[in-house]
Amino acid sequence: MVDCLFCKIINRGIPASIVYEDERVLAFNDINPQAPTHILVVPKRHVASLNDLSVEDDQLVGELVRRAAAIANERGISAGGFRTVFNTNRDAGQTVFHIHLHLLGGRSLQWPPG
Ligand code: AMP
Ligand code: ZN
Repeated sequence: MVDCLFCKIINRGIPASIVYEDERVLAFNDINPQAPTHILVVPKRHVASLNDLSVEDDQLVGELVRRAAAIANERGISAGGFRTVFNTNRDAGQTVFHIHLHLLGGRSLQWPPG
């Protein structure tokens, strides 16, 4: 999608600190990290939000979640714990409308979130 920030990162139109890539998934460091590890795991195919997923996307969503867990494991934060978050629309504070799974870890995280 032409005007999508994350599609531009996927297409190398703007730079990002990429930590993982395969045919369907890209992961890169968040530009404004909220924890020592703060990575965004995104599908290469543009999907605006969780509200736009269909049954055909079930495998893709599974790949995003499993990739986040694999990266957490590589970073050594699996046993200590980490958080994965999809923000959806205004009340959750979604600002980029290309789905992205936040992977946060490396410090103790508060619950409930703000
Ligand atoms: P959300 O509020 O869930 O939509 O999250 C969007 C995330 O994208 C925020 O954590 C931003 O810091 C992050 N972000 C925005 N622009 C960039 C960028 N150019 N590269 C990496 N992360 C970005
Ligand atoms: Zn996009």
